[in-house]
Amino acid sequence: MSSTIVSTMNKAKLVVIGNGMVGHHFIERAIEKGLHDQFEIHVFAEEDRPAYDRVYLSSYFEHRDVSKLNLVDLSRYEDAQIQLHLNQRITNIDAANQCISTEDGTQIDYAELVLATGSYPFVPPIPGREHPHCHVYRTIKDLDDILSTAEQPKVKKKVSWSVVVCWVLKPPKP
Ligand SMILES: Cc1cc2nc3c(=O)[nH]c(=O)nc-3n(C[C@H](O)[C@H](O)[C@H](O)COP(=O)(O)OP(=O)(O)OC[C@H]3O[C@@H](n4cnc5c(N)ncnc54)[C@H](O)[C@@H]3O)c2cc1C
Repeated sequence: MSSTIVSTMNKAKLVVIGNGMVGHHFIERAIEKGLHDQFEIHVFAEEDRPAYDRVYLSSYFEHRDVSKLNLVDLSRYEDAQIQLHLNQRITNIDAANQCISTEDGTQIDYAELVLATGSYPFVPPIPGREHPHCHVYRTIKDLDDILSTAEQPKVKKKVSWSVVVCWVLKPPKP
């Protein structure tokens, strides 16, 4: 169902697409610089949770606790009246009319637009890629999917290879 997000404050809108590590850092700096006084700030995030530390993603296999990776103090966003729209993938940018649309047809106009959409993993076109238990390794959901695959006895051996790769990628502790 399509709808339009109407301004609730009498300010121009600054819209950020992406609430990953860069999008979140942008918001932190925007608050420090008082941009929220000048703009009504909206953040659109494709994932269903606020920004988390992707660099330490591998530690999730040990603790399975999303809060240990969380980067966002939601009260800080609220205090600055930053509106975080989770689970909202932007599918269209109409630069001529300064308007963006989400997957479900919601539209919002903007005065300023920030793209902080990161990247997606390149998956080589190797046979088996289309298999439902072949996962990429970038989000908490990917790790949940890997864990759920690991629960299945028939695929356990193949999953163990993924875990070896994860171990190599794991960054040193500070
Ligand atoms: C396992 C792992 C280990 C890593 N280790 C290191 C390391 O040791 N050192 C290092 O420097 N880097 C490391 N990286 C890379 C680092 O995590 C990335 O460089 C960093 O996350 C990039 O931040 P970003 O905000 O640009 O992108 P992301 O963190 O990918 O965030 C972008 C966000 O935008 C959202 N988004 C994308 N498109 C849309 C859309 N159309 N609408 C709404 N939202 C959208 C995405 O869902 C995502 O949440 C690692 C990455 C992984 C996966």
